[in-house]
Order: sequence, then C-alpha cells, then structure tokens
Amino acid sequence: MHISMVDLKTQYSRIKDEIDAAVMEVLASSQFIGGPKVISFRENLEKYLGVKHVIPCANGTDALQIAMMALELKPGDEVIVPAFTYVATAEVIGLLGLVPVLTDVDPETFNIRVDHVEAAITPRTKAIVPVHLFGQSADMEPIMALAKKHNLYVIEDNAQAIGADYRFSDGTSQKTGSIGHFGCTSFFPSKNLGCYGDGGALMTNDDALANAARIIANHGQTKLYYHDKIGVNSRLDALQAAILDVKLKYLDEYCNARRDAADYYDRAFKDISALKTPVRHPNSTHVFHQYTLQMPGSDREALKAHLAEQGIPSMIYYPVPLYKQKAFQGWWHGGVLPVTEHLCESVISLPIHTELTKETLEKITGAVRSFFGS
Ligand SMILES: *Cc1c(COP(=O)(O)O)cnc(C)c1O
Repeated sequence: MHISMVDLKTQYSRIKDEIDAAVMEVLASSQFIGGPKVISFRENLEKYLGVKHVIPCANGTDALQIAMMALELKPGDEVIVPAFTYVATAEVIGLLGLVPVLTDVDPETFNIRVDHVEAAITPRTKAIVPVHLFGQSADMEPIMALAKKHNLYVIEDNAQAIGADYRFSDGTSQKTGSIGHFGCTSFFPSKNLGCYGDGGALMTNDDALANAARIIANHGQTKLYYHDKIGVNSRLDALQAAILDVKLKYLDEYCNARRDAADYYDRAFKDISALKTPVRHPNSTHVFHQYTLQMPGSDREALKAHLAEQGIPSMIYYPVPLYKQKAFQGWWHGGVLPVTEHLCESVISLPIHTELTKETLEKITGAVRSFFGS
C-alpha cells in the first residue's frame, strides 16, 4: 500500500476517458490559447460559484497580483493579511510595493479575525485579504461590514477552499470567492479543483473590476495592439481549461470525499486528548484542502518520524510565521503574534484527498493512535 499526501493518479484513472477525450479535442483543434474550452470552463465556473465574472489566468499568485493591480492599489498602501498562510498571499503585496500588514489568526479555524483586522487599520490601509485556509471560509460577514465602514477592498484568497459555502446571518449562503470585491483561486494540481499544470482565476460581481482585471491580465490591452496600462501576461491555456471543465463536474463529489475522510479521522482521534482535531466554523462548510491537527506539548517531529517509518507521509503547513521569513524582515516591526507562533509549532497535516480508502484510513489512524499509546 503506497500512501501519499495527494493521490492524483487514481483520481485521473477514474475519469481518464473523459479527460483524454477533452485533451485530444484541444490537440485536434490546435487552439491552444483561448477558444471554446476556456470559454466553456469560465461559464461553467461562473454558474457553479454563482458569480457574475470569472477571469481565468495563469496561476493563483497571478490572480492575487492582478486583483491588486485592478483595484489600483499604489505603492505604500497597506494591505492586511494573516501571518499564517502560504507565502503567495503576502508576496504579491510586497512585489507591488504595497505594505503587507500581517495579523494574527483564530486558534480554532486558523483564519484571519475581524478584531485583529480592525486593530491593524490605519489611514493608509486600502485592502484586506482573508485567506480561507485549509478549506474553510474566514468569517466574511463581519469582515465585509468592517471593510464597508472603512471603505476598504476585500480580496478573498480562495486557493484552498473552492467549493466551500459561507452562511450569512440572514440564512443565505454564498460560495467562497464570490463574496469580496475579488476572489482569487489556484488550479495547481493538488488544489481541490486542480488542473494538470498551472492555472488560476479571479472572480468578481463588479463589471468594471472584471473589465479592469481582464485588461491587466492581457498586457493592459484594450484593443488589439493598443495598450492603456502596464499589465501582465497571464492566461489559462486551453488544455488546462479542458481538463478543469471535466473536473468541475466532480468538484462537489471531491469535496464530499475529503469531508468523509476528515470525519473518519475525527472519529478515530476523538479520545486522544493530546490531539486537537480541526474545528468546523458554524458559518462555513469545510472542504478540507488540508486535515490539520494541533498537538501542543507533544513531540511533533517524533510523530512525523513514527508515521514515516510506516510509510505514512505528513506535512507541516506552515512551519514559519510570514514575519519571520527573511523576505519579510523589512516590513516587520517586532513583536510576535502568539496564535500564529503557537500554530507554527504545533500543527501537523495528514494525507487528505479524494481517493482515501477505508483500509488506508485505518492504517493512518492506527499509526497515529499507536504513537499516543491508544
Ligand atoms: C496555492 C496557493 C496560492 C498560489 O497559487 P499558485 O497557483 O500556486 O500560484 C495562493 N494562496 C494560497 C493560500 C495557496 O494555497
């Protein structure tokens, strides 16, 4: 039994005929950039997310950058982001000469907290980037209200949570990524909706912002060979769009498979007091991009080694707070964010994907349980 963090091979084998046919269609048409596959995927994703505009692009990092450029953020503007996230979120802020303002996260959901965001607002603050980390929505309703009050933009980093629903206090729900001024996502192969290379997209309900993002993603071009702005070259190619259009039909099924695996883990670990299983926020469904345990006070490296001996991989997402990364030293004004520090020291993620069998889950949970002597 080979166990991996993500099993894309088995996932592909189950939809091979459909994927192969879609890929062959693109090859036969020789329309490798743009064309019907990109349009079809864009429209299907708009429908799925219930959002007016999807703007496909080359990857999730580009999506974040294009969003900030489309919002015309200027050097020196402050953008509030969680300190516990993948580097891409804060990296583009620095790249554009903006100031990343790193804030602490919630110890239960790992997501940005509205009280910390509010405390970080200054006259230079222009935007907030909530990250829906590990597959669960940040608490968007109070974040949107705070943004409105202070006239700030909200860019959702939805790279890990595509397919999740956020529930508002009036009982209505919206897909993550469709709530802020922009939503950004990644189709990196291991993401919940992954292609077979690189890909990404922006989402927005605002016609003017959609137009601005489209222009920026295409060299600032408004008409062929007329360039109104400095833009970038960021496209989702037709092969990736064809693959994504097939996989989108299975996204809900994939989310359910991940949730089932997470439920299995939860049940297996519920009596191990040294382990804290992931908390489900009542206002969000969880699509489990990662299944992340907290084990404060226990030897995380020893568990990792114990699992590795039995052929079970595990990962630390993320071992270092962003403000301790060398690249971010220039923006850090000292002090530590206690929850971020604590999480970086105590989290461990187990294999989670769409192809976990009961046998594999039994083996993984058995190995974890034996480490804790139960
Ligand atoms: C993967 C990821 C990104 C970047 O996506 P790429 O397609 O790899 O550029 C951004 N933010 C988060 C939270 C991610 O997990």
